[in-house]
Amino acid sequence: MDFPRLWLGLLLLPLVAALDFSYHHQEGMEAFLKTVAQNYSSITHLHSIGKSVEGRNLWVLVVGRSPKAHRVGIPEFKYVANMHGDETVGRELLLHLIHHLVTSDGKDPEVTSLINSTRIHIMPSMNPDGFEAVEKPDCYYSHGRENYNNYDLNRNFPDAFEFNNVSRQPETLAVMKWLKTETFVLSANLHGGALVASYPFDNGVQATGALYSRSLTPDDDVFQYLAHTYSSRNSNMKKGDQCKNKMNFPNGVTNGYSWYPLQGGMQDFNYVWGQCFEITLELSCCKYPRKEKLQSFWNSNKASLIEYMKQAHLGVKGQVFDHSGNPLPNVIVEIQDRKHICPYRTNRFGEYYLLLLPGSYVINVTVPGQDPYLTKVIIPEKSQNFSALKKDIQLPFQGRLDSITVSNPSCPMIPLYKNLPSHSAETKPTLFLFLVTLLHIFFK
Ligand SMILES: [Zn+2]
Repeated sequence: MDFPRLWLGLLLLPLVAALDFSYHHQEGMEAFLKTVAQNYSSITHLHSIGKSVEGRNLWVLVVGRSPKAHRVGIPEFKYVANMHGDETVGRELLLHLIHHLVTSDGKDPEVTSLINSTRIHIMPSMNPDGFEAVEKPDCYYSHGRENYNNYDLNRNFPDAFEFNNVSRQPETLAVMKWLKTETFVLSANLHGGALVASYPFDNGVQATGALYSRSLTPDDDVFQYLAHTYSSRNSNMKKGDQCKNKMNFPNGVTNGYSWYPLQGGMQDFNYVWGQCFEITLELSCCKYPRKEKLQSFWNSNKASLIEYMKQAHLGVKGQVFDHSGNPLPNVIVEIQDRKHICPYRTNRFGEYYLLLLPGSYVINVTVPGQDPYLTKVIIPEKSQNFSALKKDIQLPFQGRLDSITVSNPSCPMIPLYKNLPSHSAETKPTLFLFLVTLLHIFFK
């Protein structure tokens, strides 16, 4: 017996057995996630953010250098798939993404840099009950789209434009709670049944462009860029006309409302209430394709999935300090002409993250009860090399941490845009700027 060769062979065995291209039910998925968490414990953290109606865990695997806790300066990123239980490609793609990340760390410079600079949260299934309920996989619709209580989870969030009078489901509540515990910066929600990258808003009113069959955010340039980043690296999606008898999408990108308006969607909720830019990725014309197709879906989405995560480093980030160098939580930090209807605030470390394209901007920093502090920032071209531009801000103000409410006085869960006036002359200054930006978009 040749022992040295045997030992060498054992050492070269991969830590995680190759993940096959087939569908993984809850048990198989859990086994895979637990093996990864065990074998790559220094860069992963597996936890459940709650349970489905039928009691299945809603697993999230975190990948990063400090997987268990946030570190100042490291943006939080997330992917969520399979919220419609019968849309299955994203679920398997995220398992393969996990496998790719952990096995490429230290070998592939791009993946290594990504893990060095980003904390990546991956939820392969937001609707595990729905996935298990699919009896007969179908390209168009299967029982299993909805959760066990028959609710469509992508219509189940509070809505910024109209009152969404539905019973909030455990899966939805778990995600809402999760959004409060992490300062997510960027996200994507993986679906199937079409081939397009769709960006907010999904719902709208006149003031966001609904009269023109679209509903745009003040960050529309960034959202279009994000959607194109994904679509342009997917050779099928970028053609824009891949699903027969369905809408054509130029370059494989669309505004959600332009495609069709919907109420209670997850991407609008992330953007309005979660301070997190989220887009919706429709990855396959067939919602539940044969497992033989999964390998080619992975091949056509791998580059997009990696490149999209890197966009968590767009724009500018930093901490806000008082005169004595104490970090200030709960301070409003916004770009002057792109105010959010729920102002984006610093987290408990005084951090802010603003996703922006290259250009010149004015940052408006407002401590409750103080005059706004304005500071200029220039985001250079090609600035995003695994770090946004870093800009800490020291305010000429002596604050004490205990003098500012630390718990984020989150925006009320009511339709915030509902009463947005359609005539700019009657609006308050902040809304006026928002409307001017929109009018500019309409008439350019
Ligand atoms: Zn869907």
